[in-house]
Amino acid sequence: MKHTGKVLWAPKAWINGAWQSRVSLELDDKGLWAAITADTAAPPAHAQVLSGPVLPGIVNAHSHAFQRAFAGLAECREGDADDFWSWRHQMYGVALQITPEAMYATAKQLYTELQQGGYTHTCEFHYLHHQVSGLPYPNPIEMSLALVQAAVDTGMGLTLLPVLYERAGFTLPALRDDQRRFATDVNAVLSLRDGVRAHVANQRLSNITVGVAVHSLRAARAESIAELWRAVKDDPAPIHIHIAEQTGEVEDCVAATGQRPIEWLCNGLGQGIDIDARWHLVHATHATHAEIDAVARTGAGMVLCPSTEANLGDGLTDLPYWLQRGVPMSIGSDSHVTRDWREELRLAEYGQRLVHRQRNVLADPNRFGGSTAARLFEQAIHAGGLAAGFERWGIEVGARADWVAIDSAEIDHTLDREVFSSPGKAFSLTKN
Ligand SMILES: [Zn+2]
Repeated sequence: MKHTGKVLWAPKAWINGAWQSRVSLELDDKGLWAAITADTAAPPAHAQVLSGPVLPGIVNAHSHAFQRAFAGLAECREGDADDFWSWRHQMYGVALQITPEAMYATAKQLYTELQQGGYTHTCEFHYLHHQVSGLPYPNPIEMSLALVQAAVDTGMGLTLLPVLYERAGFTLPALRDDQRRFATDVNAVLSLRDGVRAHVANQRLSNITVGVAVHSLRAARAESIAELWRAVKDDPAPIHIHIAEQTGEVEDCVAATGQRPIEWLCNGLGQGIDIDARWHLVHATHATHAEIDAVARTGAGMVLCPSTEANLGDGLTDLPYWLQRGVPMSIGSDSHVTRDWREELRLAEYGQRLVHRQRNVLADPNRFGGSTAARLFEQAIHAGGLAAGFERWGIEVGARADWVAIDSAEIDHTLDREVFSSPGKAFSLTKN
């Protein structure tokens, strides 16, 4: 392999689930890790010597960038009760205000903040496509291009996921009026995907890829999901779907189909859909053990969004069982009420502590020295890479050389301290 000769040297680096010492890290001319050598006697000549430990960049596996404009602005109760559905009504009001210029500015700020929070790649679950009138922009990918440009201008990697979004509920034929900017059918999703891919190829943009998404089982017909699945059958890119976030959605699904959402999806929606490792189930909060078993058999991943799920009152999923069954669990900041993976991992564990009245619930005493933070971090690295569609992710040869440095000379319990001793400082922004 041809190397550019760019070499980093760190006192410690997180490699393959453990700290390695005195590590030399060499990049190739494509920005991938070309050679990794631990236990070096001294930094190689010309190496950039880092003072603190190095971690791989983390994939933020679920984002709606425009919702950053709304973070922290929906925390007052206006009536007898406030829940996901009243929040969503307010969020739609924001969505109706967003211009392509505002989308770009919001995403640019967000992607900078996310990098300071240790994320170097974002999966953008993108449904805000059309003009306020509901008609497509003269260039139908205009909103997508605002996100792509924000990613390029901030150095954020991006997996853009145009969303199939065609109805307001299981028994409703179409979207609500205030959802008009989101409307897509299968052809529209494929043409958004292909349009952005052509732009990326023409502009020779690196680190931008495009998959597809389904908003949810309530917002897309089974027949349409099957049509989309057939169209992307030979495309290795990821397929994301919101699922079982709210109990109301579960009840509506059972009423409409006789099955729970994850159960129905894993049964192929009665359409012969073969769920595989390209699929990533966002939230998957309300899942029975039988459903978690079913997901484990498909190889699909789940995307946990702890801060948003807490903020929206979604509920707590049985994370110990998801982990026990080996389902890849990535992390997403979703509505961006927090923008740092350390906060997401902490909340994931604290939710379980509060409900089980135990400590270190998500740890495995036989792995990672029993460290909760290390086990969750390893999940976030590997499942995040899968959610973004990468064959390799993390500090390993052939993976993209995305890394962040911790501004500390101390090593012992570093990950535990980063996750559980808040407030976290911004990482030094040292992405390749
Ligand atoms: Zn979402």
